[in-house]
Amino acid sequence: MKIIDLTMRLKTGFPVFPGYPVPIVHRWTSIEEHGYYSNLLMLVEHTATHVDAPAHFVENGATIDEVPLDRFMGEAILVDATSLEPRSPIPAELIEKAAENTGLSGKIVLFHTGYDKKAGTPQWHDHPVIGDEAAELLVSRGVKAVGIDAPSPDNEPFPAHKKLLPRGIPIYENLTNLDKLVGMGVFEFYGIPLAIQRGSASPVRAFAILRE
Ligand SMILES: [Zn+2]
Repeated sequence: MKIIDLTMRLKTGFPVFPGYPVPIVHRWTSIEEHGYYSNLLMLVEHTATHVDAPAHFVENGATIDEVPLDRFMGEAILVDATSLEPRSPIPAELIEKAAENTGLSGKIVLFHTGYDKKAGTPQWHDHPVIGDEAAELLVSRGVKAVGIDAPSPDNEPFPAHKKLLPRGIPIYENLTNLDKLVGMGVFEFYGIPLAIQRGSASPVRAFAILRE
């Protein structure tokens, strides 16, 4: 069994989606001064590797503490979108092809763009996107969750958020290390959020398990 960590480090200054405050991880106590070490966190729920709940875009939608835990773990497949042009919509056929041996129903579908490597650069938001066509496919096939190694699966006017979240499909953003899952077929994915009361999202520790 092999565990692959898919999580970015939550640290002061981590680049955030435009309009959000940059996170601060501030040393609150130290062993030298207080006898014990701790940090104060100041961050928006949508910082570094995190998962969006329906309530992020849906009035009265499920908040992160209300989404069943089952949604955050399960069989997953990877769609390799690294060869696509910047900002181009991910074709439905690419998703169909990635799922030809496994199907999409009940799967967690992760999109590998490689844009995690561009975090904080001006090109970071030029990642390929889940447009209307791809989002409709994911919804109609009943996927369990969707994730991407970019700051968002879409850009304004947010077609993926607006199609997936109302159907209860959580969205993982800022995943990393997806290159290590290329060609691996079906794997297990876990990305468990904090139980933030009425939270719109939560940072997660996301990882994949590959079994021999
Ligand atoms: Zn988010």
